[in-house]
Amino acid sequence: MQILWRDHTGESAYDRARWNNVFNLERPNCSPRAVIKATCTEDVVSAIKIAGQEKCQIAVRSGGHSMFVWSLHEDSILVDLGNWKEIAVDADVKIAQVTPSVTGLELNEYLHANGQLFFPTGHCPDVALGGFLLQGGQGWNCRNWGYACDWVVGVEVVTAEGDVVFCDQHKNADLYWAARGAGPLFPAVVVKFHLRLLPDPTAGLRSSCYIYPANMYRQAFEWVQSVVADADQDTEIVMVAFYCESRGEVCFKVHFVTMKADGLAAEHALKQLHQGRPPGTFTEWVAREDSLDSLFSDQRMVNPPSHYYYTDNSYISNSVDVTEALEESFMTLPPGKPFAFWYPMYPRSRRPAPDMALNVASDHYFSVYAISNDRDDATRCRTWVEQTMERIRESAVGSYLGECDLKLPHDWYWTKDSARRLAAIRQKWDPGCLFCTVHAEQGEGV
Ligand SMILES: Cc1cc2nc3c(=O)[nH]c(=O)nc-3n(C[C@H](O)[C@H](O)[C@H](O)COP(=O)(O)OP(=O)(O)OC[C@H]3O[C@@H](n4cnc5c(N)ncnc54)[C@H](O)[C@@H]3O)c2cc1C
Repeated sequence: MQILWRDHTGESAYDRARWNNVFNLERPNCSPRAVIKATCTEDVVSAIKIAGQEKCQIAVRSGGHSMFVWSLHEDSILVDLGNWKEIAVDADVKIAQVTPSVTGLELNEYLHANGQLFFPTGHCPDVALGGFLLQGGQGWNCRNWGYACDWVVGVEVVTAEGDVVFCDQHKNADLYWAARGAGPLFPAVVVKFHLRLLPDPTAGLRSSCYIYPANMYRQAFEWVQSVVADADQDTEIVMVAFYCESRGEVCFKVHFVTMKADGLAAEHALKQLHQGRPPGTFTEWVAREDSLDSLFSDQRMVNPPSHYYYTDNSYISNSVDVTEALEESFMTLPPGKPFAFWYPMYPRSRRPAPDMALNVASDHYFSVYAISNDRDDATRCRTWVEQTMERIRESAVGSYLGECDLKLPHDWYWTKDSARRLAAIRQKWDPGCLFCTVHAEQGEGV
C-alpha cells in the first residue's frame, strides 16, 4: 500500500497524488495529510486505522469526477481507489461485482466482451461508479431504465470501525438504503458494488437529432415534451441548449437515442417520433446507426478535461409550464462552451419510489454547465449559473446531488423524511464523523 505523507513527500509527487484524476480545474486548494493509494479491501481497513491513530478524517476518491471535488479536504487522509480496478461477472445470473473506480466506459467495454451485457452507466465515459452510484446515477435512458442505483443489489463496505460488511435488502439494510442516494454523506467506504445487469442493448443503437435556431424554442420544446409519454421505452430523450458560434445565437438540439438489440425496431421507434417534429431545423438526422463509443466520444467533446466547471441543476415541478419556466434560462446561455439541458424523467418519476435515499421526483430535470478554460471567463459563467438557478427556484422541487454543491438545506436533495433517516444512519455508523462530506462553506446542516 502506497502512502504519500504531505510532510515527507516531494512537492510534485504529493501534488500529483492529491490532484490525481481530479477532473475540474476549479478545485479547493486543500492539502490532505496523506494520500493512501488503496488497491484492496485490507488497504482501506489499514487507512481507517491510520486515520484513527492520526486523529484525522477520511476522504474517499473513486474517479475524481465530483464537480465540487468532494474528495479533497484539508488535513484528511485521502483514500484514492483509482488504481483498484476489478470486474467479475456471473453471466448466468447477470450480476457483476465491480470496484468503485471502474469507469462507465471500462465497465461497458468489459460487459460487452464478456457475455453481451450492459449497465446504465453515466453519459461521460470517465465518470467512475463510486461517486456516480452513491448519488443515484443518471445513466443511459434513466427515464425508463431508472437511476443506475436502482440496479445496485448489494454493496461491500468498510465502516468507521474498520469492519468489512456486506449490505443488501436483508443485511445492514440501512446502509444499503443509504448507498443508493446518500452521495458524499454515505457513512462508510464502498469497496465493491454488486450490480444487476441488462442484456446488451447496443447492437441496434440508433439516434435522431434535430437542431433548431433560437426562434424555434417554443415549438421545439413543446414538441419534445409532448412525445415523452408515448415514446418508445428504450429511447432516451434530451434537449440541449448550446451557443452556436456560426449563427451567433443559442440553438436547441433535440436528441433521441434508442438502444435495442434489434436495429429495425430502434429505427421504427425513431421514425415514429420523426413524424410529428416541427419543421425549421438547420441540421437533422433520423434513425442513424450509432454506437456507444461515438456517444461517449461526443460527451468527451462537450465536457472537455482541463477546464473550469461550475454546474447546478433542479428538478422542475410537474405543475408549472416548463417551457415558460425555463425560457429565460435557456435564452441567456452565454457564448462559449456552457450548455444547459432538459431531461425528462417520466415514467421513472411516476413509478412507486423504491425504498432508497434518493427520492426527490419530478418529470423534469434541468441542468446547467458553465465551462471555460479561462478562470475569469469561468467566473462570468458561474454568475450565469447562479442567476439561472435563482430565477427558477420557485419552479423547482429539489436538486440532484450529481451536479450541484449541496449548499441548500438537506430536504432540497432528499425528502424531509429521507434527510432525517440519513442523519440517523450517519449517526449510527459514523458517530465520530470519521468520513468527510462536502466542503465546509457548502453543505449547510451537514
Ligand atoms: C464530465 C462529467 C459528466 C458527468 N455526467 C454525469 C451523468 O451523466 N450522470 C450522472 O449522474 N452524473 C454525472 N456526473 C456527475 C458524477 O457522476 C459525479 O460527480 C460523481 O460523484 C463522480 O464519481 P467519481 O467516483 O468519479 O467522483 P469522486 O470525486 O471520486 O467521488 C465523489 C465523492 O463521492 C464519494 N465517494 C466516491 N467513491 C466512494 C466510495 N468508494 N466510498 C464512499 N464514498 C465515495 C466521496 O464523498 C467522494 O468525494 C458527471 C460529472 C462530470 C465531471
